[in-house]
Amino acid sequence: MKKLVFATNNAHKLEEIRAILGDKVEILSLNDINCHADIPETADTLQGNAALKAQYIYENYGLDCFADDTGLEVEALNGAPGIYSARYAGGEGHDSEANMKKLLSEMQDKENRKARFRTVICLIEDGKEHFFEGIVNGSIIRERKGGAGFGYDPVFMPDGYSETFAEMGNDEKNKISHRARAVQKLCEYLNK
Ligand code: IMP
Repeated sequence: MKKLVFATNNAHKLEEIRAILGDKVEILSLNDINCHADIPETADTLQGNAALKAQYIYENYGLDCFADDTGLEVEALNGAPGIYSARYAGGEGHDSEANMKKLLSEMQDKENRKARFRTVICLIEDGKEHFFEGIVNGSIIRERKGGAGFGYDPVFMPDGYSETFAEMGNDEKNKISHRARAVQKLCEYLNK
């Protein structure tokens, strides 16, 4: 069976992709290959960061692999927080409450609420890079709503829905999310 490293230890992401690929491809996590490095994400685009992570695995382990990077891009903020989404409010990052607080405050007097989540996946297969992108368009509401999900889910309402990502829950979100769309494209490619 074909083996592919997914440069993550995020259990949710691993489960999602294994479910789509079934038994066609064996997906290994960073833990599975004993990689405990803090892989640099120093590029200035999502595409660049996804490529850096995948290149790190390919160069150090010689294995076919892929990596993803995601950002929330808000039109009225010229695409911010973008690649800085995890650490928008500063510090070590991944403080979702602080990130949302900063976002709502920056957006306080903005009429244009348009935003999108964008995921880029970089696959390296036999040394060759392939990119897959997934986008979900929506808007930033004025107050948090809902308790499911993570990150900016309580303030992001996808277009065509009257619930935020945090209100709709994972099953429904995973059908339309940026990451699901990018993963779907990767899987279509791998299943060919
Ligand atoms: P990552 O590249 O998947 O680690 O995502 C970077 C950051 O984007 C996360 O730390 C979250 O703040 C935000 N983010 C990514 N995906 C989502 C999502 O599905 N909902 C809400 N926030 C997300």
